[in-house]
Amino acid sequence: MKAIRVIKVNSERPERERVEEAARIIRKGGLVAFPTETVYGLGADAMNERAVRRIFEVKGRPAKNPLIVHVSNKQQVYEIAQVNGIAEKLMETFFPGPLALVIDKKDIPDIVTAGTGGVAVRMPDHPVALMLIELANTPLVAPSANISGRLSPTKAEHVIEDLGDRIDAIIDGGEVKIGIESTVLDVRSKPAKILRMGAVTPEMLEKAGIEVEVVDTRPFGHYRTKARLYVAKPNEMEVMVEEFSRKGLKVGAACITTRCDAEKVVWLGRSMEEVAKNLFSALRELEKSVDVIVVEEVERKGLGRAIMKKLEEAILHRSS
Ligand code: AMP
Ligand code: MG
Repeated sequence: MKAIRVIKVNSERPERERVEEAARIIRKGGLVAFPTETVYGLGADAMNERAVRRIFEVKGRPAKNPLIVHVSNKQQVYEIAQVNGIAEKLMETFFPGPLALVIDKKDIPDIVTAGTGGVAVRMPDHPVALMLIELANTPLVAPSANISGRLSPTKAEHVIEDLGDRIDAIIDGGEVKIGIESTVLDVRSKPAKILRMGAVTPEMLEKAGIEVEVVDTRPFGHYRTKARLYVAKPNEMEVMVEEFSRKGLKVGAACITTRCDAEKVVWLGRSMEEVAKNLFSALRELEKSVDVIVVEEVERKGLGRAIMKKLEEAILHRSS
């Protein structure tokens, strides 16, 4: 087994020669994990079918789940997609940023789009990601750098935990800023359809004059935690923690407004932005030492709606 190459960089002012080393691996068809503003991505040359196939293999990702293509400039979008008026307008406002647009595809391998007619395109708002794409001189597919169905990685150590023995390198740029994934928006219909809830909220899109409908019904198991996961309203947290403890289970609590007496407690933060940033990392930490995790519910508005959607997916697919 080959050891993973860990390339440490300054996330704000990445050292060019270090990112160049990672870009060389990508150009040769290798797999390199790297930080974006949302979560860590697992990057490969989107035009190299063999490299893309390896991404599906190492993640254990179903072949019918298409990959988002990451670009560093708008020109690349025009090369791989048939950009329409609404996509153009959204690119003006949200690129670079945590919004992926599904547009009719042009010149891009079928394996990337899972044989569908559309391609999802995004420009990450992160100096390391942008430099890597630029130096690789090709758009990159970059799904979250976790085993398919596990929690998305927000730190380099999460990637190493899941994929350390299966990929060629990781660029370690520290903890990510946002902590939940990009929003996936299909702009081929009117109203545009939110296929995956994420960091750009429906409210933000509507504010930009885009009519949207939420149809996030992703059919795949996401966010399996190793401990059983429950969500509780603030005033139910204490009771639930107590109940599980009384049964002799080790309980972990992820709290926002409450202070509960669990075996292990992680505080998620005050604002929705803080909760989003800390959520996956907190769940990864808790699942290591407890049997049951109880997470405090948030209000389903703005970013809170995406956070609750992620938690619901995790509950639906818990291990027992
Ligand atoms: P991930 O790679 O884990 O960030 O997940 C990307 C998500 O984007 C997938 O689960 C898909 O639902 C969605 N997606 C990517 N490409 C397309 C596409 N061409 N058409 C529709 N949805 C897409
Ligand atoms: Mg993912």
